[in-house]
Amino acid sequence: MSRVLLASRNRKKLDEMRRILAEHMTGVEVVGLDDVAPYDEPAETEPTFHGNARLKALAAVAATGLPALADDSGLCVAALNGMPGVLSARWAGVTGADQATKDRANNELLLAQLADVPDERRAAEFRCAVVLAVPTPDRVVEHAAEGVMSGRVIRELRGAGGFGYDVLFCADGHEVTTAELPTGEKDAISHRGRALRAIAPVVAEVLGTEAEPGR
Ligand code: IMP
Repeated sequence: MSRVLLASRNRKKLDEMRRILAEHMTGVEVVGLDDVAPYDEPAETEPTFHGNARLKALAAVAATGLPALADDSGLCVAALNGMPGVLSARWAGVTGADQATKDRANNELLLAQLADVPDERRAAEFRCAVVLAVPTPDRVVEHAAEGVMSGRVIRELRGAGGFGYDVLFCADGHEVTTAELPTGEKDAISHRGRALRAIAPVVAEVLGTEAEPGR
């Protein structure tokens, strides 16, 4: 069985990525950062999602020698000129707390920033860039894909599923937040789902496993 490393420690994100990849290929063992020896993980210092995904994927290959898939994602709010963007995870500046505490602070700050923004100007989109980095004898080969989920930021926190800003985000065509959607429904429309479904056939081809398109 081939192995691919998903360079992430976010348990819910890792589960989502595993689920989506599993739908599209068989015969691949997907391991996360907690399954490999610890190494110095790079800070997300690039100004783009692609740049940060690339940093993470290349560092993972350098440390483990495994083909590595990394993503970077975030929420881009039109009324905030595309922010929090690459700063989504640390928007409220909370460090050293658990994920739920950081998520709550980020969501409360975003709500406060948009308090005076009328409904018709609350458009936002989740964006996700993924990079697959594959070690070969003479160099590391890179593949990339992106996915977008458009919607709007609502005015109160709703739902118990998902993570991050899901409690504040309704995708286009939906009255419920992505935290209220069953996981399979979120996967079908999510930025990460779209990006991963775009890269999945490449992962399958590179690892020499069988892709199962369109399940
Ligand atoms: P990353 O882990 O550096 O990609 O940071 C992504 C951050 O963007 C997360 O910590 C969340 O705050 C936010 N984010 C990305 N994808 C989602 C999603 O699917 N739902 C909710 N928040 C998300």
